[in-house]
Amino acid sequence: MTDTSLFDLTGKVAVITGSTKGIGKAIAYRMAQHGAKVVISSRKADLCDEVAGEINAAFGKNGKVAVPIACNISYKEQLENLVAKSREAFGKIDVLVCNAAVNPYAGPMANCPDDAFDKIMSVNVRSNVWLCNLVVPEMKARKDGSIIIVSSIGGLRGSNILGAYCISKAADFQLVRNLAVEYGADNIRANAIAPGLIQTDFARYLWENPDILKVSTANAPLKRIGQPDEIAGMAVFLASKGGGFATGQQFVLDGGATIT
Ligand code: NAP
Repeated sequence: MTDTSLFDLTGKVAVITGSTKGIGKAIAYRMAQHGAKVVISSRKADLCDEVAGEINAAFGKNGKVAVPIACNISYKEQLENLVAKSREAFGKIDVLVCNAAVNPYAGPMANCPDDAFDKIMSVNVRSNVWLCNLVVPEMKARKDGSIIIVSSIGGLRGSNILGAYCISKAADFQLVRNLAVEYGADNIRANAIAPGLIQTDFARYLWENPDILKVSTANAPLKRIGQPDEIAGMAVFLASKGGGFATGQQFVLDGGATIT
């Protein structure tokens, strides 16, 4: 075998929601580094411009490799716009990374306000379904596509502070299984990544709390929390030829936290 391009993404176009910081930004950066064209997206247009600019400066010597398209995934019209503008910019979407998620409530399930519960389920689950439904037809027509949903190890465990969020992340695991079954014959693969605690703003309230940090790391074999870039390699793998036989799965990247 002489092919050394197992993880090469040249010629691929990836749309990554929530890619102005944290895990989404790391995924976008690494995908661009591996040759993909990437769509940078979040609710803040100025940050999308900034991050796309950074990626173009790093990898765009022969032309633009990143475009900024602001999108709040809560709104179907904004998702439609994201997909339309991505196609306008790069002609197609080969890889969809549903990364953005929200968690407006932490505490016992019994006290979770209905509107917070609804928001968690609609943004973290229904919006992902909407976005997948918008992108799948062209993947089907091309008989090629990779969908990656950033879930969480929270979806694998019970929780006494993140109950609703964890339900939404468990639903994301089921979503990739459904997509894998529905579209496997069209050569569309769908997989979930399940990060453990990662040092991002989203989880700041967890890793800045010494008690929670201790519980998260004390029994984990690697004895530390993760960095956003430590999630990006799995996304590159799943988008590439290297991940060509993986579908319907949940890939845990947590320093071993869930095995003890
Ligand atoms: P982060 O650093 O806070 O980044 C979140 C990104 O999503 C930002 O770009 C944010 O930008 C964007 N975003 C938030 N709400 C959005 C919305 N409604 N529409 C569009 N974009 C939105 O968070 P992160 O930790 O990287 O989280 C990324 C994913 O990893 C999430 O699915 C999260 O559940 C999952 N995860 C995180 C951890 C962890 O410990 N950090 C662990 C397991 C799973 P704007 O605010 O500008 O929109």
